Amino acid sequence: MSQPLVGMDLAELREALGPGQPSFRAKQLYEAIYHGQASELMQISALPAELRRQLAESHAIGLPEAAKTYVSTDGTRRYLLRLDDGRTVEAVLMPEGERDTICISSQAGCAVGCTFCMTALLGLERNLTAGEIVAQVLLISQLNGLRREGGRLNIVMMGQGEPLLNLPSVLKATRILLDPAGFGLSPRRVTVSTVGIVPKIAELGREPVRPKLAISLNASTEETRQELMPVTRKYSLSDLLAACKAYPLRPWEKLSFEYVLLKGVNDSDADARRVVRLLANLNCKVNLIALNAGPEIPFETPSPERVASFQQIVRRGLPCFLRKPRGLDIYAACGQLKLSA
Ligand code: SAH
Ligand code: SF4
Repeated sequence: MSQPLVGMDLAELREALGPGQPSFRAKQLYEAIYHGQASELMQISALPAELRRQLAESHAIGLPEAAKTYVSTDGTRRYLLRLDDGRTVEAVLMPEGERDTICISSQAGCAVGCTFCMTALLGLERNLTAGEIVAQVLLISQLNGLRREGGRLNIVMMGQGEPLLNLPSVLKATRILLDPAGFGLSPRRVTVSTVGIVPKIAELGREPVRPKLAISLNASTEETRQELMPVTRKYSLSDLLAACKAYPLRPWEKLSFEYVLLKGVNDSDADARRVVRLLANLNCKVNLIALNAGPEIPFETPSPERVASFQQIVRRGLPCFLRKPRGLDIYAACGQLKLSA
């Protein structure tokens, strides 16, 4: 079977090209795959034809196949991507005016088990490789002719999986996405969202090249948080907030806290006031998401009035935005990614 080139860094591409090649060949290949977004190895005209043929005997660029595409009435597109081993993951394109956001997966399924999330019902199937993470961006970008200059394109790792439980691959993929000779995005344009794996937050902070960080807070008390997200029994709210306080933000950067509002569970005015108190000494903003309901999800979506009241209270203390649900009709919204046909 041919080896995928996507996901390889420069040194790995040099090795794939074999001995005796001048080192600029690997650079040409790297740029063709990530910057030029070549879809076929044989079409990389920067490389001599003979070299292309040789490489193609054992390698292919290796983008996944878009097995299915679902198009929402709001323009959102959900892609079911088939990986080399036949497994599938999902990625979602959300166009909005001049801006496009691609939501990608970091794992097939998720081990974490949050009670409001449909991906949790899959369990963890496996980690994605760096190549499989980068390939989601390349494929969706190619299929839709997306432009990335001027900050038009944003990537969020908020699809299937917990990115900080697959950190080496997530970091390698991020380095390729942020490398000016690679996909060439600004670090302001790539965000990773975590349920709050505390030790990995510190690890991420030590990386010179890293995405922005969003944290799923989702509750205003330790007790409710542990009920909703059982994994947080291991990573307490106070430890999480300490890790956030210690996190080395870049001068332009703020932490984001995601908060899924569940009717009658974490959506009261008192919850909103507690959120402000919890986050008061952090340089951050809050993104509210009203629950995207789904089969087997034992919660309800709060009323728009409740959501507005919650937002108004948080806003008095912190920047606070409401995320519009996207692609609800095609099961593409947050927490709905579960390979439904
Ligand atoms: N595992 C990571 C990233 C993927 S989930 C994390 O949990 O942060 C991305 C976001 O979707 C998280 O903020 C999560 O809390 C939210 N989410 C999960 N299920 C949801 C649902 N049913 N409705 C709305 N948001 C949901
Ligand atoms: Fe996994 Fe995130 Fe869903 Fe929790 S919310 S089960 S961490 S994908």
